[in-house]
Amino acid sequence: MIVIGSGPNGLVAANTLARRGFKVLVVEANARRAGGALGTEALTLPGFRHDVGGGFFPFGRSSPAFAALDLPAAGVEWLYARYESCHPAVDGTFAVIGRGDALETAPFGSARDADTFRALARFHAGVERDLLPALLGPFPSVGPLLRVGLGPLLKIAGMFLRSTRGLSSRLFETEAARRVLPGLGLHVDVGPDDLFGAGLAYMLAVTATTGGYGFPKGGAQSVTDAMVARLAERGGEVRLGARVTRVIVRGGRAAGLVDFDLAGPGTRLLDVYNTAMHWVPLRDPVDLWETWRGVDQAARLRVLAEGYRLDVAGREALVDLGIRRADVTWRRMKAAAEHLGGGWARMWSEGVGDQIRRREAWLTEHRDELTAALL
Ligand SMILES: Cc1cc2nc3c(=O)[nH]c(=O)nc-3n(C[C@H](O)[C@H](O)[C@H](O)COP(=O)(O)OP(=O)(O)OC[C@H]3O[C@@H](n4cnc5c(N)ncnc54)[C@H](O)[C@@H]3O)c2cc1C
Repeated sequence: MIVIGSGPNGLVAANTLARRGFKVLVVEANARRAGGALGTEALTLPGFRHDVGGGFFPFGRSSPAFAALDLPAAGVEWLYARYESCHPAVDGTFAVIGRGDALETAPFGSARDADTFRALARFHAGVERDLLPALLGPFPSVGPLLRVGLGPLLKIAGMFLRSTRGLSSRLFETEAARRVLPGLGLHVDVGPDDLFGAGLAYMLAVTATTGGYGFPKGGAQSVTDAMVARLAERGGEVRLGARVTRVIVRGGRAAGLVDFDLAGPGTRLLDVYNTAMHWVPLRDPVDLWETWRGVDQAARLRVLAEGYRLDVAGREALVDLGIRRADVTWRRMKAAAEHLGGGWARMWSEGVGDQIRRREAWLTEHRDELTAALL
């Protein structure tokens, strides 16, 4: 089975398939690391590493998908702050979300607002065990929903159907407390007046009081690395530097992937040269495959040029283009191997650079002979 993309969704899918006995390959466009928006990179000063996307994880411990992977046993260490988040208002008041003791003591706008929030937190703690599998597990999750019960479900639905501003105004009296849900909503791209927008913000607020906002020690990459390690335990593999550009579908099923484009956008002459390079092939005879030894490269080049109806100007320019192209390709591949690593570095270490230089020298040495064959 092939999974495209090694972000958290791809890696969870890959692990799920591997657990069911499939041999799984994950192809990832990024040549440097797996993880997508779940990754950590040295982007600024020496010694500093930054999460490029996700940094804190409200569902780090409670997500059924993560739980099935037992990430702590694979190296993830969750860290927690004393307070989960703080929401200041311009009038000087503020509301703080805490867990455990901190939930009971943290200021939340006013005493009344704090009581309201704690009551919501208690209500959530009572239903969370069934609610989270219902919301985060595979659909349809009828069983867990039934276990939540009709009364709690109606109460939750009544909150989910509102906007974050609407729900906040209904629940709280202070400016600070009324900022909590819209603030959390904005974090997940939900505007304060978006209808049905309160659900996500409400879940972020109340799960902070139970599971907390976990930070993986060492950054988000540690979560990705643990998922990749879990996959490897079951024989799965992540291949970096492979961007899928096309999925070939036969009879309604995916039958193949295209992860490279030899020609790319270019001139017609370049297309002919690229085709000639592989079909003739235009390479030093020492690099020809065993069964191709002795092939008449000049004659095949002429056949190809005629097949393409290449004009005289194109025939005169073709070999020189190949010589220049070899030099450009050598430089590009060297840079890619050094800076991107992955498949580029592997090919470079296998000697592709030397092969390109041999092609360049062979084309230069046989330039006149090849061009004469074309004219
Ligand atoms: C700036 C930012 C901050 C965030 N903060 C948080 C947070 O604090 N907490 C939280 O829980 N979530 C956060 N998120 C959201 C979370 O990171 C995403 O929901 C999650 O990464 C989505 O996972 P995904 O696997 O669907 O996609 P992605 O993580 O985007 O991964 C997709 C992968 O597929 C690869 N790919 C794409 N196309 C191809 C192709 N054609 N061929 C091969 N590979 C391909 C990409 O290179 C990438 O590696 C944040 C996201 C961003 C962008």
